[in-house]
Amino acid sequence: MDSDPPDVLVIGAGVAGLACARDLLAAGLDVRVLEASDGVGGRMRSDRVDGFVVDRGFQVLNTSYPQLRRRLTLRELRLRPFTPGVAVRTDRGMLRFTDPTRRPRALPDLLPGRLAGPRDLLALGVLSAGDMLTPVRLLKRREAGSTRSVLAAAGFSDAFVETFFRPFLSGVFLEDRLETSGRVFHLVWRSMLRGTLCLPSDGIGAVPRALAAALPQGTVRLGTAVRHLTATGAVTADGAEVTARRVVVATGPGPAAALLPGLDVPACRTVTTYYHVAPRPPLREPTLVVDDRRRFLNTCVLSEVVPGYAPAGHALIATSVLGRDGTGRESAVREALGDAYGADPAGWDLLTVRTVPDALPAMTPPQPLSRTTRVAPGRYVCGDHRATGSVQGALASGARAAREVLQDLRA
Ligand SMILES: Cc1cc2nc3c(=O)[nH]c(=O)nc-3n(C[C@H](O)[C@H](O)[C@H](O)COP(=O)(O)OP(=O)(O)OC[C@H]3O[C@@H](n4cnc5c(N)ncnc54)[C@H](O)[C@@H]3O)c2cc1C
Repeated sequence: MDSDPPDVLVIGAGVAGLACARDLLAAGLDVRVLEASDGVGGRMRSDRVDGFVVDRGFQVLNTSYPQLRRRLTLRELRLRPFTPGVAVRTDRGMLRFTDPTRRPRALPDLLPGRLAGPRDLLALGVLSAGDMLTPVRLLKRREAGSTRSVLAAAGFSDAFVETFFRPFLSGVFLEDRLETSGRVFHLVWRSMLRGTLCLPSDGIGAVPRALAAALPQGTVRLGTAVRHLTATGAVTADGAEVTARRVVVATGPGPAAALLPGLDVPACRTVTTYYHVAPRPPLREPTLVVDDRRRFLNTCVLSEVVPGYAPAGHALIATSVLGRDGTGRESAVREALGDAYGADPAGWDLLTVRTVPDALPAMTPPQPLSRTTRVAPGRYVCGDHRATGSVQGALASGARAAREVLQDLRA
């Protein structure tokens, strides 16, 4: 297989591996990427199912992520935005939390007594102004408590935390105890205030496809799983050896620990997304809906965000829950959706279910926001588990791996 050894072998063609390969190629190195599956993207892939676009687990893109802006022409992804804010299903009906700086006419949604009281609105203004205006390098140095402790210190009432922050953030961090690092919360809140949540018209998988399109043809070899590393490179599942003096493991945390025994990897969060098809959209707007009873993480009518996600005459609804699918789970979700949307879901079809076992690394404090990728001489590891669990984190870690490889080569 390996007549002409590359300078650097990258294992895994998720966004971290693709970013790393791109930066190394730009520096003039010869790079090969080996990917176990049949496509690029890792956790960011989309499928076509009966004419619908189905992402492998519901996720969104934030236009403020610096690494995305640096690497892609966002216009080419034909992004479609969500409503700036969320709707919360409560026993008092659907309450809105809309960013008034972008939708001034939605300001009445924030009137005291609707979702938040005066004290919470004040705390929200102070927190948001601080996160919006504080430089990232200072936010990163904030105290290392949990999100729950940050929210308490910011002065929010328990009622507002339970009605808004906890349901909303459980869908962001894929945990519902607000145990994620407060520093990560500040960065996420800042990125939400500064960016727009959206989806590419061709599905979330369009992002890695665009990253891969910037690599010379033949750089990525699909269907080539690496079984183990050797002193001189790596051995693939078919027993072939690829020699390379520098190897970057960009496989995601579980496989990285298998290839690099002893590597410190975080626990991971599992999420399941149910995709339902309805004859009519139960909500005619591109809005993320969360549930204050936390029967689901979030739900939205995807075809209201990107009409092309569903064939004409159908509505595609994505609803995510923590953990795996199980007996009775879908019918419980369906019942909660009927309640949340005020619709009768009895006639909805279940199109498909996507469970992602290692969707996001846990980011409990003290969460280092970026870790070195050097793990042994000539061995590097990158991915969201070495930074923050997000596209931004994965890309930034891939970029860091490339920088560290180049520094070591120059030394
Ligand atoms: C359901 C879900 C929702 C999410 N929501 C958001 C969101 O809203 N916003 C956000 O910013 N982020 C979100 N994320 C996180 C984001 O998708 C990830 O952080 C990012 O995609 C991780 O990229 P990565 O390159 O680090 O790893 P991965 O995407 O896991 O890539 C690893 C690659 O390595 C390959 N591989 C593994 N083992 C081997 C081997 N032995 N040999 C060769 N190849 C191998 C895999 O097939 C894979 O292609 C979400 C993730 C999921 C799953």
